[in-house]
Amino acid sequence: MNTSSPIDARRAEVVRALSRVLPAHALLARSEDTIPYECDGLTAYRNRALAVALPETEQQVAAVLQACHALGVPVVARGAGTGLSGGAMPHSEGVTLSLAKFNRIVRIDPLSCTALVQAGVRNLAISEAAAPHGLYYAPDPSSQIACTIGGNIAENSGGVHCLKYGLTLHNVLQVRGFTVEGEPVSFGSQALDSPGLDLLPLVVGSEGMLAVVTEVMVKLVPKPQLARCIMASFADIEAAGEAVAAVIAAGIIPAGLELMDKRMTAAVEDFVHAGYDLDAAAILLCESDGTPEEVGEEIERMSAVLRAAGATRIEVSRDEAQRQKFWSGRKNAFPASGRISPDYMCMDSTIPRKRLAEILRAIEAMEQQYGLRCANVFHAGDGNLHPLILFDANDPDQLHRCELFGADILETSVRLGGTVTGEHGVGVEKLNSMCVQFSPEEREQMFALKRAFDPNEGLNPGKVIPTLQRCAEYGKLTVLRGLLPFPDLPRF
Ligand SMILES: Cc1cc2nc3c(=O)[nH]c(=O)nc-3n(C[C@H](O)[C@H](O)[C@H](O)COP(=O)(O)OP(=O)(O)OC[C@H]3O[C@@H](n4cnc5c(N)ncnc54)[C@H](O)[C@@H]3O)c2cc1C
Repeated sequence: MNTSSPIDARRAEVVRALSRVLPAHALLARSEDTIPYECDGLTAYRNRALAVALPETEQQVAAVLQACHALGVPVVARGAGTGLSGGAMPHSEGVTLSLAKFNRIVRIDPLSCTALVQAGVRNLAISEAAAPHGLYYAPDPSSQIACTIGGNIAENSGGVHCLKYGLTLHNVLQVRGFTVEGEPVSFGSQALDSPGLDLLPLVVGSEGMLAVVTEVMVKLVPKPQLARCIMASFADIEAAGEAVAAVIAAGIIPAGLELMDKRMTAAVEDFVHAGYDLDAAAILLCESDGTPEEVGEEIERMSAVLRAAGATRIEVSRDEAQRQKFWSGRKNAFPASGRISPDYMCMDSTIPRKRLAEILRAIEAMEQQYGLRCANVFHAGDGNLHPLILFDANDPDQLHRCELFGADILETSVRLGGTVTGEHGVGVEKLNSMCVQFSPEEREQMFALKRAFDPNEGLNPGKVIPTLQRCAEYGKLTVLRGLLPFPDLPRF
């Protein structure tokens, strides 16, 4: 290996240490081998790790962490790399620790309705394995065919059915893994409660900053006897936004409640032929599940509310095949955007449901302001937006405008009473916007929690929690809509 530069010398040192604890086939260090790991789904930001470790056993995970800790090398855990906020983007002086080989379903227990799975098991594989018992794993990110349960834990991922069944956190009982020093650690228990402080909610959503997860016990729920989905069309997107608030205000919790605007349905329809109404300014997909009687009654109630809220057309899925078609369009919305733009950046914020119409108006105005198109698709029932900003990453000016556009959406969401992330995490993408959401004191408390687990900040450093200096710089550099963010911060 060429050790001419300091980084090459460091790589050689790290590879030597890891070679002692991993078989040769479980360690990648040549650039042609590590390049596939240089980004996650947020492809605009990339880094090359010194090495990629692919351990096959828990002992190897512990040994990799111990070796990295001894050398002071940062470690970034990685699942399938489908994250959309740069969470699994490598550290240029660190090791990427892939859990890809932890892909075993240890056991499905139909009596306790639980599954014990390794961290690298794909989300959908859990439901496939549970299906013969009439059970499934409810959280269903649209990436479920590829993303891992370890990544879901780290991001507290959601999906179209989380409105009714809860996010990852609500469907997990126990998480096991290793600390930055390679010590075993466990959160939660196999029962509904655990003794002492309940740290499970802390590790779920911690974006690989507190521990490396190796094994998870998830809850399984019975497959409903029947599910039917309404496709409701609206002549303007604001009316669709208001209809979402009306459904929830009527005391109905649909099994899914999603909104797609006209630009998005057009892109998707070309791709999956879901049968969407292409004349509508926006469509809502509104699902009911349960017994046939429950579903029949709920579909009637939901249809009445949607009609009263201005729906111009209502179509209820005739059979399971049509229901699956309706959802396949929604689940393929992100990849379908690739058909209408060379690149897209998927934003992810939440707002109170009653303010959906306001944010949609604001996003429309931003399209003019930043000179970029935006397609909207989101978990409307949760108030979780996913505006997809369309741009060309080969044009640095477009990338810059896209970043400003994205930050404006996040920060407008905060002004409307929402948050800068719904389910995709902060990663590197939303670091600046965290400065707007949280005070220096709040961010210092987050750092204190991080340091309680990881005093030298060796796990996924530089992500999620912005430093005071970064926030001050951001405040100095960025003026959005004529408003200086964080005016009370000292400027260096
Ligand atoms: C087309 C598409 C659709 C999507 N739809 C949704 C959606 O509907 N809902 C949603 O919530 N998300 C969605 N996502 C985002 C993404 O799929 C989720 O965030 C997912 O949970 C990431 O899982 P992963 O295995 O790919 O994790 P990665 O991208 O590899 O990693 C994500 C984060 O988790 C950490 N991590 C991964 N594994 C571990 C581990 N074992 N221990 C500790 N930390 C770990 C990483 O360090 C990183 O910070 C979508 C992405 C795409 C590309």
